[in-house]
Amino acid sequence: MARKVDYLRLSITDLCNLRCRYCMGEDGVVKKQHREILSLEELEEMAQAAVSCGVKKIRLTGGEPLVRRGVVDLCRRLKAIDGVEELALTTNGVLLRDLAAPLRAAGVDRLNISLDSLDPAQYSRITRCGDLQQTLEGIAAAEAAGFRGIKLNAVLLRDYNAAEISEFVELTREKDYAVRFIELMPMAVCADWDQYLSAEAVLEAVPQLERIGGDGVAELYRVPGYCGTVGLIRPISHRFCADCNRIRITADGKLKPCLHSRSEIPLRGLHGGELREAILEGIAAKPERHFLQEKGVSDCRRDMNEIGG
Ligand code: SAM
Ligand code: SF4
Repeated sequence: MARKVDYLRLSITDLCNLRCRYCMGEDGVVKKQHREILSLEELEEMAQAAVSCGVKKIRLTGGEPLVRRGVVDLCRRLKAIDGVEELALTTNGVLLRDLAAPLRAAGVDRLNISLDSLDPAQYSRITRCGDLQQTLEGIAAAEAAGFRGIKLNAVLLRDYNAAEISEFVELTREKDYAVRFIELMPMAVCADWDQYLSAEAVLEAVPQLERIGGDGVAELYRVPGYCGTVGLIRPISHRFCADCNRIRITADGKLKPCLHSRSEIPLRGLHGGELREAILEGIAAKPERHFLQEKGVSDCRRDMNEIGG
């Protein structure tokens, strides 16, 4: 039976204002020609076509989506597409201080914010150039703008943030944050199994966590009496491929049926029925599972900043 694919992750740029060591090389990315990247009109057209194929939820990602000029206007246009039930965005938070309120007004429903350390020195080591304060101000601005249930994503890194697991969980004591720990996926130039830490480490560090269910790819936990939740995302140790309901479009217009596969379907230049057919072909081509663990590295030859996570 064909599976239900109702979630589109749309990468709107491969550029970023940080250089997270698990995501991209130290020198960042080779800047693509402006014309190689989908225009705002193309992004809207592809989103519209995906919605006509069953997509109900769209997440903007990158690179860092907030460095893309016109992102607020794009959000407004995507939210206006008939059939879009949820518009979300994943960001490193650096530019949120100024953009949170406009994004909220443009119709963004939910935010995921990457926050890999609560220690300023460690944060700048992981991101190679980031200032923790900016991201914390971004999170505060998002709350002030009315975003609720903000997801705070931390990629588990053995030598960088494993010691902070309890501190992250403490963030959920007073606030309705969803703190999510993501297992490192070794990708292209950033493949580094030495830093990999199973999400089991979270349950060992905070044994009070009680399982309360699931939310998409995350297993959900809560410390009894705390406001927020803790999510474990285990692409490596517990595969969730069989339940995967998502497709991805890269910033240069390729549809990826699976994050870890080489298979890509070019969408650029297609319109109307042709575009729809190509998207349906991508949905039908979703593989049953990935082979990350067996092969030691993702089969996908791109780093995460090119795909959007
Ligand atoms: N720049 C935005 C951000 O950092 O949130 C959006 C793009 S980023 C590629 C999307 C998500 O992918 C982030 O939560 C990031 O932590 C995650 N990510 C990037 N590289 C990863 C890797 N190698 N393994 C696991 N997660 C990764
Ligand atoms: Fe940039 Fe996000 Fe990748 Fe970090 S994870 S380098 S913020 S795209």
